[in-house]
Amino acid sequence: MTCPICTKDTDPKFRPFCSKRCANIDLSKWLSGSYAIPTNEPDLGDEDEIVLSERLN
Ligand SMILES: [Zn+2]
Repeated sequence: MTCPICTKDTDPKFRPFCSKRCANIDLSKWLSGSYAIPTNEPDLGDEDEIVLSERLN
């Protein structure tokens, strides 16, 4: 598996990305794209599940 941002090898800590930097780049794309719901919830667990299920589509 390779990083979808820069195509380097994936780091297990940041998969599917190679680094936190690439994860943030992907997140920025998401926030500026179709997924623009404010993240004011203090419990990030549910937010992460929503994002992951959206990505699978
Ligand atoms: Zn990368």
